[in-house]
Amino acid sequence: MRTTFGPPTRGRFLRSAILLPALASLAGAAALADSSKASPASMRYQTSPNGSMQCSGCKFFIPGQDAKSSGSCQIVDGSISPSGYCIAYVAK
Ligand code: SF4
Repeated sequence: MRTTFGPPTRGRFLRSAILLPALASLAGAAALADSSKASPASMRYQTSPNGSMQCSGCKFFIPGQDAKSSGSCQIVDGSISPSGYCIAYVAK
């Protein structure tokens, strides 16, 4: 039976040199997206209002630094415009 422990070999070094950066980039990508939230596309998020309905009037909106700055949303991932809209809109 072959063990994975032992002195370093050229093959092990090369596998590590290839795998570690790939794993690091995957971990970084996972950190950027919040998997607990829905994607903007799945919620048909748009950066413009739908009539009088817009994110600034939605109970899920988390405001940015001021009234015109983008904020975030409790259920949709990413930067959310106060004048945006999605299908999960619920008036405050
Ligand atoms: S649920 Fe939709 S409409 Fe409401 S704040 Fe989030 S993105 Fe905007």
